[in-house]
Amino acid sequence: MGVSEHFRPLLVRELTETRKARAGLSTDITSTSDLRRESNVDDEHDPEGSTIAFELSQSATLLRDADARIAELEAALLRLEEGRYGSCEVCGTAIAEGRLEARPWTRFCINHAGGR
Ligand SMILES: [Zn+2]
Repeated sequence: MGVSEHFRPLLVRELTETRKARAGLSTDITSTSDLRRESNVDDEHDPEGSTIAFELSQSATLLRDADARIAELEAALLRLEEGRYGSCEVCGTAIAEGRLEARPWTRFCINHAGGR
């Protein structure tokens, strides 16, 4: 079994799940924003206002992370289609399969990962 046959379903599943999670997050943000408007709280001085602001910024961060992950996964699927999947973009070495299992969206071998 080739690398692409093995990793395509994995990437597709991950992409589906991340998109689902992202949809849930935007719903959260919308309803929290509505709540904030309705309650008309003063963010600076109202304790409830700062909680809402905090929750909004938390959700916004998660949403940004989800967007980034979706972009990575889509790019990985594209590389798979083009037969470039699983090679390090820096040195061209085949990325260890264990690393791909853990981070199927990765574009770098362990030596060039730099924490990604
Ligand atoms: Zn490398």
